Amino acid sequence: MEFRISELEREPVEFDLDLKPGAIDFGEEAEQKGNLATSGRAEVIHEHRGPHDVVPDIRLRGRYSGKFEVPCARCIEPVEIPLAAEFDLIFRPLGADQGAPERSITASETEIGYYQKDSLSLEDVLREQVFLSLPAKILCKPDCNGLCPRCGVNRNLELCKCDARKSDPRWEALNGLRGRIKS
Ligand SMILES: [Zn+2]
Ligand SMILES: [Zn+2]
Repeated sequence: MEFRISELEREPVEFDLDLKPGAIDFGEEAEQKGNLATSGRAEVIHEHRGPHDVVPDIRLRGRYSGKFEVPCARCIEPVEIPLAAEFDLIFRPLGADQGAPERSITASETEIGYYQKDSLSLEDVLREQVFLSLPAKILCKPDCNGLCPRCGVNRNLELCKCDARKSDPRWEALNGLRGRIKS
């Protein structure tokens, strides 16, 4: 869904959608499971910078909820996580801030984005919002044993023969370190 500035200048646009998996490309980082529900409202806010300098910003408020699968940070098995969040964002026309002298950025302005070519894509906004909501490190369980750094076996499922050799605790420590460096 595209919000066009010409339409928003006439009246705000409300939306209430169920986006099927594939409507948004989340790449390798996350896989959408089932529909992503989203609703909200887009409107124009005219930012008056001077008598002849009015910037048409798009304010986008709404929420989304859906289920995602992301790889476990240790064993790369898929982990299902539900995500739901609200957003209230401002988008300026790309280039509106170019060449502007140092503008004072207030706390409420820290989340400003930009739209290009007179329109803003809801899908692009949602993709970014989902990535922002994803925890930095997702584990399938707190004590996930991960993959064996030597043979690649999933150590939650089976014990590989590599384990037999490292009975010395000093090697354990070294292997733990190696695992951390790798990840
Ligand atoms: Zn795991
Ligand atoms: Zn192994």
